[in-house]
Amino acid sequence: MKIVHVASEMFPYMKTGGLADAVSALCSALAENGHELSVFLPGYRAALEHPDASGAERKMRLKVEMANDFLSGDVRVFSPRKNLKVYLICREEFFDRRQPYGNGERDYEDNSDRFIFFCKAVVEMLRLGELQADVVHCHDWQAALLPVWLREAERRHGVTLALKTIFTIHNIAYQGVFPSKTFARTNLPDELNQMDGLEYYSQINLMKGGIMFADRVTTVSPRYAKEIQTPEFGCGLEGVVQTRADDIVGLLNGVDNAVWNPAVDSLIPARYSAVNLAGKAVCRAELLKRTGLSSDAKSPIFGVVARLTEQKGIDFVLENRDFFLTQDVRLVVLGSGSRRMEEELRELAAAAPQKISVSTKLDEAMSHLIEAGSDFFIMPSVFEPCGLNQMYSQVYGTLPVVSRVGGLADTVVDVDDDPAHGTGLMCEPSALSLRHALQRALVLFADRPRYAATQQRGMAKDFSWKVAAAGYERLYQDSL
Ligand code: ADP
Repeated sequence: MKIVHVASEMFPYMKTGGLADAVSALCSALAENGHELSVFLPGYRAALEHPDASGAERKMRLKVEMANDFLSGDVRVFSPRKNLKVYLICREEFFDRRQPYGNGERDYEDNSDRFIFFCKAVVEMLRLGELQADVVHCHDWQAALLPVWLREAERRHGVTLALKTIFTIHNIAYQGVFPSKTFARTNLPDELNQMDGLEYYSQINLMKGGIMFADRVTTVSPRYAKEIQTPEFGCGLEGVVQTRADDIVGLLNGVDNAVWNPAVDSLIPARYSAVNLAGKAVCRAELLKRTGLSSDAKSPIFGVVARLTEQKGIDFVLENRDFFLTQDVRLVVLGSGSRRMEEELRELAAAAPQKISVSTKLDEAMSHLIEAGSDFFIMPSVFEPCGLNQMYSQVYGTLPVVSRVGGLADTVVDVDDDPAHGTGLMCEPSALSLRHALQRALVLFADRPRYAATQQRGMAKDFSWKVAAAGYERLYQDSL
């Protein structure tokens, strides 16, 4: 098949979270299966500076209509591997920035123009480059309106640009909501600016358009596909999602086992596997050394790697500060985001520098070392579309302590509930429930044979993208 992906992130060219890993690994897996993949990304500074892009050829200059203006941009193309082409949509004014969505404090003022431009440029490239896609697969709000613009361009020019469109919701909490006046920049017919179109409480909502107008809608775990049809998790779009209840499927993300695999991981000091865990002990010692924590390795190490937002349940960890201060445990946190959470975490570490380490950097190598060197990984998310770290944890023989929501509930089994199949510990998304799970973790850690058996079950699970990509292949074929 000829498959086009459109996203605002793809590892290693731009990454703020799981979207980047998912797009990258899915495209690689599909390319490996012999499909012809084209991925469109904004030409961010980091993407253009990446070594892969150094030989990028300028494919085309194009003009994009935005209200009554025409904005020009150009498209650069490179091919990082067989069957895979990456197209960067470039316009310095919009994308020559370090951060993709905002400056850390707030979102950029021109985000609507930036991503409207991005999608319209993709449509132009599909048209002028005659890519003749079987499937155009769009990710999250930044690419949500592409299905609408595609059909609009097909109508205007009397051509076929894509046989089917797929829209994937990676996180329904980010919807791309903009003031109503933004609608003019879309150049879409006025009837789309109504309640059964993009209109949303007197504003416009790009994700709503994606859900309504793509041929198929997917999200990143079966449980989240159900959850987002409820007010508790739908973030106001539950009614819109319900209208697609028959078309929406939840396909779990996988783990890229070229990157997240303790047997080949070059970012950790020693490699290991389920049959020989000696390397994990080396990673554990290195983690303690690097974070300056006391090297007495008997008591358990709890790891956290997360964007610091309400979503990730970091407040439940903070509300359990006395657990980490008074119990014989160690805590290693890597995460950046909310200034308040960063500060509170730093204060916590300062109160017990021998026991608690906090880094607020973005640090790919450290994220691998924490997965490899910890005994437990804490992820008590309030909601979690799929989540990757709880899968990485199992692959690295680190027991996940997670809340029973979304993809976490689909990928972890509580060992106290189900001793024969358990791979971790589960709680409700609350400080109190997390406290009980942490307490259970201490009991489990003290029972070495039971801890080791739980670890082995996690490491034996198949989270590979082969499984995940097969689900998408079936979906594409089925939709065609
Ligand atoms: P989300 O996409 O909601 O952020 P996921 O669990 O799906 O959550 O993916 C998070 C990804 O981002 C993981 O690969 C994780 O290791 C990575 N990550 C998060 N924070 C950091 C950080 N400070 N440094 C390095 N990697 C990070």
